[in-house]
Amino acid sequence: MTEELNRNSTARWRDLDVRHHLNPFSDYRTLKTRDGGSRIIVRGEGVHLYDSEGQQILDGMAGLWCVNLGYGREELARSAYDQMLELPYYNSFFKTATPPTVELAEKLAELAPGDLDYVFYGSSGSESNDSVVRMARFYWQKAGKPEKSNFISRTYAYHGSTMASASLGGMKPMQQGYGLPLEGFHHVTPPYWYDFGGDLSPEEFGLQAARAVEEKILELGPETVAAFIGEPIMGAGGVLMPPESYWPEVQRICRKYDVLLVADEVICGFGRTGHMFGSERFGIEPDMMTLAKGITSGYLPLSAVMVSAHIAGKLIEQGGEFAHGYTYSGHPAACAVALANISLLEQEDLVRRTHEETGPHLKARLQELLDHPLVGEVRSEGLIGAVELVKDKQARSRWDDKSTAGQICRDHCFASNIILRAVRDTMVFSPPLIIEMSQIDQLVDGLRASLDRTAAELG
Ligand code: PLP
Repeated sequence: MTEELNRNSTARWRDLDVRHHLNPFSDYRTLKTRDGGSRIIVRGEGVHLYDSEGQQILDGMAGLWCVNLGYGREELARSAYDQMLELPYYNSFFKTATPPTVELAEKLAELAPGDLDYVFYGSSGSESNDSVVRMARFYWQKAGKPEKSNFISRTYAYHGSTMASASLGGMKPMQQGYGLPLEGFHHVTPPYWYDFGGDLSPEEFGLQAARAVEEKILELGPETVAAFIGEPIMGAGGVLMPPESYWPEVQRICRKYDVLLVADEVICGFGRTGHMFGSERFGIEPDMMTLAKGITSGYLPLSAVMVSAHIAGKLIEQGGEFAHGYTYSGHPAACAVALANISLLEQEDLVRRTHEETGPHLKARLQELLDHPLVGEVRSEGLIGAVELVKDKQARSRWDDKSTAGQICRDHCFASNIILRAVRDTMVFSPPLIIEMSQIDQLVDGLRASLDRTAAELG
C-alpha cells in the first residue's frame, strides 16, 4: 500500500524537486531539464535504501560517509524521541548546559587519543572546521603570538562548504569564482602516490609530501603559521591513503615549528578505518580533531571539535570571551543520539569487526579487480576504499576529460541499484559498518559489472 502510494507520488515529488528545490553540489540545468529531477528516496533499512518506485538500493556510501550503524535503528530514534520529550532544546551560551551535552563531552574525551579532553560543539563538519579556524587564532592570541594566523592544508582536501572551511579545502571548483580561498589559507601537495609519486617508492614519496608542509611553513615564516589541517585518509578527495612515512613526519614538523596539528576526522572518526579514529591508525596525537557524520550515524546533525588540554588550559588560564558559537552547539537531542550511537558501536563491536573481518574482506575482494583492464590501483583501510580507473595501467595515464570514466561507471552502478561515488576517475566506497560479508561481495561484483559496461562505452 505504502509503495503504491509512493509510486503515485513519484511524479509529484520529482516535479516539486524541479520547481522548488536547489540541491547541493548539483548542475541545475542537467538536473532540472535533462534528468527531470532527483530520484526520490523514501525509506532505509540496514544497508539498503528504497526509492519511491519501490526499488531496493545497496548503499555503498553510507549516505555521505555517515550512516555507520545503518538505516532504521530504533534505538537511535528512541533516544531522540525521549530527549525531545524531556528537553528538546536549550543552549549552552550563558552559563547553562544540558545533561546529554556534558555526558557526551565526557565520553568523547574518554575515546579521543592523547589529551583531547575538551569539546566545542557544532552541527556540521563545516562548522567544526570553521570553529577550528576561530579557536586556533584565539589560542595564539592568548599564547602571545597573534601573528600566528595562517593555515596550511592540501590540494584535493575537502573540509566543508562554508567560506572558511572551503578555504581550508583544496578543491579548485569550490574556490574559483567564489572569491576563495580567503586570505591566510595555503595548500601543499597531498600524499597521493598514485598520481604524484612518479618513480619514487610510496615511502619516499610520503616523506617528500611531508616535506612540502615544512617548505610551506618556512616560506610563510613559522611565526605566522597557526595550524596544519588534514584528514588522516582524505575521503572526498579520492580516498587518498598516505604512505606510512607521511603522518609521523608531518607531526614531527608541526611540533618543530610550533604549528598546531589538526586532524579532520569527520569521515575517519568512529570506526571507519577499523580504528576508533584515523589518528590512531597513523600513530598521531593531534592538538585538535574535528568530528561529525559518524558521531550520530547521520541521524541528527552534530559535530564537535576536540581540543587538547594544553590549548583549553591556556584559554581557561588567560580568560576573555571566545566570541564564537552556534544556536545548536551541544543540541541535547543530537547529543543524546550520539551517546546512543556510540554505545551501539561499542556493544556491536563494530570497530574490531571492521578491522578484523569486514575490512580485510573488502580489501581482498578489491584486489581481485586488479585484473580488470580499467583498474590501475585499489586501496582500502577498514571500510573506506578506492578503485582507480585508468586508460593505460603501465603509464598510470587517464583520459583527457578527467572524471568522465568515473561518472559513467557511477551511473552504471546507480542504474543497477548500487550507490558508489566517483571522485574524478576514482570510484570510492564507504558502506555502513554493519555491512555483511555477502553484501560486500554484492558491492564489488556490482562494481565489476559496471566496469565492464564502462569499458564497452569508452570503446
Ligand atoms: N570534513 C570532511 C573530511 C568531510 O568529508 C566533510 C563532508 O563531507 C566535511 C568536513 C564537511 O561536513 P558537513 O557537510 O557536515 O559540513
